[in-house]
Amino acid sequence: MGTVRADHALAADVVIVGAGSAGCVLANRLTQDPKLQVILIEAGGEPADPRIADPAAWPLLQGTEIDWAFTTTPQPGLAGRRHPWPRGRVVGGSSALHAMGHMRGHPLDFAAWEAAGATGWNWDALRPFFLLSETSPFAGEEGYGGCGPMALCQPATPHPLTLCHMAAGADLGLTPIRDHNGPRMSGPTLNTLTIRDGKRLTVADAYLDAVVRARANLRILTGILVDRLTFGPDGRAVGVSGQAGADRVLVSARRAVVLAAGSIGSPSILMRSGIGPAGDLASLGIPVLQDRPGVGANLQDHLLSAGNVYRARRPVPPTTTQHSESLTYIGARTADPALPPDLVVGIVSMPVLSDGLAGLVGAPAPGEGYTLMFGITHPRSRGRIMLASADPMVHPVIDPRYLEAEEDREHLLEALEWARRIGSAPAYKAWNQQELFPRPQDLETRDSRLSFVRRAAVTHHHPVGTCRMGTDRTAVVDPDLSVRGVPGLYIVDASILPSLTTGPVNAAVIAVAERAATLLVF
Ligand code: FAD
Repeated sequence: MGTVRADHALAADVVIVGAGSAGCVLANRLTQDPKLQVILIEAGGEPADPRIADPAAWPLLQGTEIDWAFTTTPQPGLAGRRHPWPRGRVVGGSSALHAMGHMRGHPLDFAAWEAAGATGWNWDALRPFFLLSETSPFAGEEGYGGCGPMALCQPATPHPLTLCHMAAGADLGLTPIRDHNGPRMSGPTLNTLTIRDGKRLTVADAYLDAVVRARANLRILTGILVDRLTFGPDGRAVGVSGQAGADRVLVSARRAVVLAAGSIGSPSILMRSGIGPAGDLASLGIPVLQDRPGVGANLQDHLLSAGNVYRARRPVPPTTTQHSESLTYIGARTADPALPPDLVVGIVSMPVLSDGLAGLVGAPAPGEGYTLMFGITHPRSRGRIMLASADPMVHPVIDPRYLEAEEDREHLLEALEWARRIGSAPAYKAWNQQELFPRPQDLETRDSRLSFVRRAAVTHHHPVGTCRMGTDRTAVVDPDLSVRGVPGLYIVDASILPSLTTGPVNAAVIAVAERAATLLVF
């Protein structure tokens, strides 16, 4: 369905805002009950760009019509650079432009959620929902799902550099593992990818197929930018108002509104509705409904660095998947595989340089080089999102405060060391003609190394935590996913994660939404 006009009467039992990873899962699962009428609202449109389906084309989708194209504030920890923050604005959300890695996370990542107040959100509780969501290449084995909407694969014919990368890790004594979603997460392995028959599988492809879309109790409304919530006289959330082009649209929720607008969208809608840090809202002229300092706070994101770049001895063939087929997670500070790995070093089969390094001479052309990207898994730095204006068309202020914590800086320097060790391991001899970045002068002192990583680091695209689930004063949602102090309002998306999982977060967002669909009682 396309855009709607303001004079349409729009009402449902449940209104879900945002047809991204979480919203698509919820829309499917909630409408399995034919008595529940659901409206799913999305600011973007139905996916139309053929590049969405092409796994290799994912970097080209940034800056297109399906990208919100957010930008961070200048980051002092990253040499004052502003970071582009792509986010999906289309049915499928960020799963329509992401890099397709599917890693559940380490069991202790979820123990950390529970310890932070997300009572009941531990590994044992989430594990059935990871399985429910997936059709794994290892279906039939204990611990893997066989019937879920998300079809997963590992590269059938891995890129030669991928094989080399895994062998180099083994050269250094890292124990290979079969996949990231088994009993261990650290060690060289192939990435698990959301690619089916050579094409990207978005969460919308998986959960909103033609059969689900044909359900009489589901309406999908695209092209509506939700501005704010509407409330009844008792303070209950009773709907949303938004813009569909020039038209103002009101959508009523008889039982509940569920925000699934993501780590940037959900806190922004709350704040525009008067739920957020009172001082910030008042300074923008937004009437304060509830003073909630936790809204927009606790922002955290993974960094990767681009990178440890090499000139190749021989031509590098193009990718047959999505350029990045092997992330090696490393427990650098602990050899205990029962603990979450703290570093990651991945291979990208082309030269990748951050904007902080791109101006420097010496980068090889595609086909002539490759990159070891390195990062940290559990950053301590915490940033925040604030509104810049009450106008929903104006992007919020995004300040992740990357590398503000000393521990993150130390960890990233260790990750650089590990990348260079792997890059110079015997297995890479057949490929490594010359290490181009960092340059010798970047390696002279700790300061020069730190200056290098500050310029090399880029977002790994995993912002979470801005409407944190918990039970303390600054938590935004309770463990039952209701927004504290606002009856009839729930949040289900990456914003409620108390902290990052070890790897990319999409699989965890899907599992959270699967579990949410069984918990929400309307
Ligand atoms: P989203 O999927 O972003 O969905 C939010 C939806 O809400 C969007 O469709 C948006 O348009 C809509 N919306 C927002 N505001 C409004 C509003 N006001 N009105 C109406 N609609 C609104 N994760 C992985 O696991 N593996 C990867 O390889 C990976 N790579 C990534 C690469 C990139 C470039 C990006 C951007 C992300 C990547 N991620 C990856 C992260 C992953 O895609 C996200 O964490 C996940 O999709 C978040 O799901 P969500 O439901 O919280 O939000």
